[in-house]
Amino acid sequence: MARPLKNLAEIAVIGGGLAGLAAARQLTRIGRLVTLFEGSGMYGGQVATVEQVDGLGAPGHFSGQDVAIELLEQARKAGARVIDVPIASLEIGARLTITDEEGKTHHPEAVIIASGAHARGLGVPGEEAFVGRGLSHCATCDGGFFRGEDVAVIGGGDAAVTEALVLTRTSRTVYMVCRSPLRAKREYIEKLDAKENVRFLWDSEVTGILGTDGVTGLSLRNVRSGEASEITCAGLFPFIGSEPSAPFISAKFKDKGGYIMTGADYATSDPRVFAVGAVRAGYGGNVAQAMAEGVGAAEAAARLIASRKIRDKIAA
Ligand SMILES: Cc1cc2nc3c(=O)[nH]c(=O)nc-3n(C[C@H](O)[C@H](O)[C@H](O)COP(=O)(O)OP(=O)(O)OC[C@H]3O[C@@H](n4cnc5c(N)ncnc54)[C@H](O)[C@@H]3O)c2cc1C
Repeated sequence: MARPLKNLAEIAVIGGGLAGLAAARQLTRIGRLVTLFEGSGMYGGQVATVEQVDGLGAPGHFSGQDVAIELLEQARKAGARVIDVPIASLEIGARLTITDEEGKTHHPEAVIIASGAHARGLGVPGEEAFVGRGLSHCATCDGGFFRGEDVAVIGGGDAAVTEALVLTRTSRTVYMVCRSPLRAKREYIEKLDAKENVRFLWDSEVTGILGTDGVTGLSLRNVRSGEASEITCAGLFPFIGSEPSAPFISAKFKDKGGYIMTGADYATSDPRVFAVGAVRAGYGGNVAQAMAEGVGAAEAAARLIASRKIRDKIAA
């Protein structure tokens, strides 16, 4: 049975990636009560394990952790309340009701959804059973487990190529399984090309994962010729795109792909509910934009609450 909590938050932020952290920090700066919910226990979202974040729009080299911890500490010092529990549901009625996975309910006056996106699965049989047993979405976290062994990276975008670069430091061979030509930034591709332990398997897609207790190899199919083949590898790192992380909100707020639809000020069709960053339809895909959206939504949510308070005072 859900246990109601005293309403401490004027504005709730769901997600502690860079969009949510920037929103929370901005809300504290402009004197709003804010509660930030993060579901993974790790701040920084998709860049939490990235060693050097590109395109921050600031001079210097920063890891995802550097940026996230700085934003988090600034928000905390200025009074943000931070709760390490995932949100299970958001009901949008006469009042907003957020229920977290511990069953506690919260009733903020506005919500900024910044729950981002997660790696898309390969869609092959038994995939889930290999997670943590050879299959990983983080080279920095798990690459060391495959020291001196062969690993496969699936995909050809920025994430696949940068994660493959990390793996080249510790693995014997890094297979790049690519269905189409690389789409990553030229500078990343050039760096990968210069590595001697990378083997490209072009026009290839994964049709199965081999192994019983853990990954021992992959079944592949050539998408042009239809020819089937197998490779031996101990680690598998798929980076074939992402999917929005917003199961807690009704489908009527989302587009066909599951991304949350907003207007220019990041408000959804309900003016109390905002969405920013990688969970939002139309998001451009870089951290500078994620943080700018977080700040923009924070300002819009604060304006909304201020105008309501003035209206209530006049009415009283
Ligand atoms: C490997 C990799 C490298 C990248 N490198 C770069 C780069 O160098 N430069 C760049 O500009 N972009 C980079 N990107 C893209 C960038 O990571 C994203 O655009 C950005 O992280 C989006 O930020 P976000 O805060 O919107 O979402 P996310 O980073 O996805 O963060 C969302 C957060 O919400 C939390 N969350 C999800 N569901 C819930 C829930 N129900 N309750 C509570 N919390 C929840 C998640 O745990 C997560 O912490 C990279 C992406 C990847 C995958």
